[in-house]
Amino acid sequence: MVVILGAGLAGLSTAYHLRRGGCRDLALHEREDRPGGLCRSEARDGFTFDYTGHFLHLRTPEMKRLASRLLGSELATVIRSSWIWSQGVFTRYPFQTHTFGLPVETVKEVLLGYIQARCCRSSRLQIPDSRLKSAIGNRQSAIPRSFERWVYETFGEGIAKHFMLPYNEKLWGIHPRLLTTEWMGRYVPPASLEQVIEGALTDKPAGEGYNATFRYPCQGGIESLVRALAARVGPIALGSEAVGIDLRRRRVEFADGSRADYAALVSTLPLPELVARLRGAPDRVRDAAAKLHWASLFALSLGLRANRTEGRQWVYVPERRFAFYRVGCFSNAARAMAPPEQAAVWSEVSYVPHCRLPIADCRLKSGIGNRKSEMPSMLRRQVLDGLKEMGWLRSHRDVAAEWPLEIPYAYVTYDAHHRRATGTILRYLAKHHIHSIGRYGRWEYSSMEDALLQGRETAQRLLVEGKGMGG
Ligand SMILES: Cc1cc2nc3c(=O)[nH]c(=O)nc-3n(C[C@H](O)[C@H](O)[C@H](O)COP(=O)(O)OP(=O)(O)OC[C@H]3O[C@@H](n4cnc5c(N)ncnc54)[C@H](O)[C@@H]3O)c2cc1C
Repeated sequence: MVVILGAGLAGLSTAYHLRRGGCRDLALHEREDRPGGLCRSEARDGFTFDYTGHFLHLRTPEMKRLASRLLGSELATVIRSSWIWSQGVFTRYPFQTHTFGLPVETVKEVLLGYIQARCCRSSRLQIPDSRLKSAIGNRQSAIPRSFERWVYETFGEGIAKHFMLPYNEKLWGIHPRLLTTEWMGRYVPPASLEQVIEGALTDKPAGEGYNATFRYPCQGGIESLVRALAARVGPIALGSEAVGIDLRRRRVEFADGSRADYAALVSTLPLPELVARLRGAPDRVRDAAAKLHWASLFALSLGLRANRTEGRQWVYVPERRFAFYRVGCFSNAARAMAPPEQAAVWSEVSYVPHCRLPIADCRLKSGIGNRKSEMPSMLRRQVLDGLKEMGWLRSHRDVAAEWPLEIPYAYVTYDAHHRRATGTILRYLAKHHIHSIGRYGRWEYSSMEDALLQGRETAQRLLVEGKGMGG
């Protein structure tokens, strides 16, 4: 029997591909009352909201085929309209190649900084990585490069100061000097000198980055994809929360007292939650789990009576005086997300839930307040004021619908501990026939497509091993 914990995209994809491969001996358990995890959508007063923007940036032919098979003509291809709001103007994303329209002084800083960084990359800049080193102790010889240092060396001081450092500090909730570069991959587009200069002198449409177009359901938000997938995976045990895992007996215990024995276990739970449920895990695994850090999210989605978003789908907001690091408009990706002439928008504020990092480096202390119960009302005011300043809202009376949401696990922190701690845990789990997959199961910064792919790969591995083929 293959037992799968969590019916988000990773768990659903595992079940889907196991069934397609002929496996019937599987059980999919989900804690919530419906599948989808972060890919659910909420309907309120004529508006539909996702768990903040969830757009499909598909790279692989297999997942393009799967999405088309699931949604057919209901899956639209949308041209990206992503922006940055700073110094009172909207400029195109990515910042490094679109500074046209910012004050001349800022553009000058960007150009000079970029040119200086290229000319004297290693000699002039002395941003120490010692903070990363002290965080992991002297035992570890390979000290990763800090994101802050990489930004200064690659883009120079202007881009660092006006976008990369403040934006990433708001997103990750910690200072970029404590982040490594291991998460960046396709998420930080490079920029040539020619592109930086051209983007400073002209307002050219943005075609760069990993997501120049994206796919999105015409109706019902991203949960439409989940519904189509869930309809093809067989029964899902809903309201079924795993509370304990007996590694010796290979048995999962659920909150309602029921149990399931497994030949293989696929878990999509966040890694710290999974380790906390293991019976008999050694101290080194528990110690590694204690070193995992992450950022949580407070999201406020709003239905607005008037649409003043000018077609923008999402906007990055680097300035510290705004609580949110990003806002967006669902109905600019699919019109059906809001009634005609109205707008379904969202805002995102991240915070560090259990700050075990030096407190001075943690936004929780200085930024948005550290009493969780205060957040919704305080942040609501800050969000509405910010949207007013951006011009998306004229008066609080424009708000026709509201949906506040907390996402406890949003961004895993790529600090100096990340690689070693996840490696220790994942190796231990693999030895005990537990496949920990998905964004929080692998403890990584990854996308919906990655979750689908990991589900497929895991199913293929289990099918080759012959697990779950008994029934
Ligand atoms: C703010 C934000 C914006 C994003 N935007 C995008 C985007 O635009 N494009 C994109 O491609 N990706 C985006 N992502 C990433 C995307 O959401 C994830 O990659 C994907 O949804 C992960 O799916 P998953 O199945 O791994 O995890 P999850 O969706 O977290 O699913 C895990 C499931 O496990 C269940 N569960 C938890 N504990 C238990 C338990 N004890 N017992 C049983 N079940 C349990 C949960 O209820 C949940 O259903 C975004 C993520 C965030 C946080």
